[in-house]
Amino acid sequence: MTRGQDDMMRRGIGMTSQRTRERLIQRLYEEGICNAKVLEVIRRTPRHLFVDEALAHRAYEDTALPIGHNQTISQPYMVARMSELLLEAGPLDKVMEIGTGSGYQTAVLSQLVERVFSVERIKVLQDRAKERLVELNLRNVVFRWGDGWEGWPALAPYNGIIVTAVATDVPQALLDQLAPGGRLVIPVGSGEVQQLMLIIREEHGFSRRVLGSVRFVPLLNGPLA
Ligand code: SAH
Repeated sequence: MTRGQDDMMRRGIGMTSQRTRERLIQRLYEEGICNAKVLEVIRRTPRHLFVDEALAHRAYEDTALPIGHNQTISQPYMVARMSELLLEAGPLDKVMEIGTGSGYQTAVLSQLVERVFSVERIKVLQDRAKERLVELNLRNVVFRWGDGWEGWPALAPYNGIIVTAVATDVPQALLDQLAPGGRLVIPVGSGEVQQLMLIIREEHGFSRRVLGSVRFVPLLNGPLA
């Protein structure tokens, strides 16, 4: 038994949870997620460890859930879809994530790419996410407490960048920090009007694909203690 499973049993969620986990994977597949690796990683990542114990019984529903500080853990479908878009052209080495939040998307990514660089503006969320990843023995992630609008220039360029909060415009710093051929997956807009975008750094300039309506919490300004 893995530590995650062990923990699940201790919390008395047991086999019901295993069944609901399988149902979630089936649902993601039916909704069009076809990257087998992504589905497998979501199957084995214990999402209930990324939410409050009081919400653990809802962890395998395909829905965003509150994680405090007016933030939410992303919906599994969105985590799967964004991961799939990042990986569409092949394996990735360095990926930067903006908006660590609970660390769930971070945990999924860390099992799909070589290294993850994750930026979060709320220190307490970051600390909690760090602990969870250590607990799950996911060690290829480094964290930065800072402002995602600025990215993480010291370690650039990145082959992939994923933003898990909606930006009013595509941050210039993130475009600047993309490696040649690098892929940026980002929700853009505000309020009810948000589109998921895939931006690729081509030989000359950037290509953009609009992938449909989404719903995210806003990308805010500056770090917060
Ligand atoms: N992927 C996360 C989603 C968390 S919600 C999860 O599944 O848990 C979005 C996160 O983006 C929040 O934690 C929020 O604090 C963070 N965020 C918002 N604006 C930010 C900014 N400018 N820089 C870094 N993180 C930011």
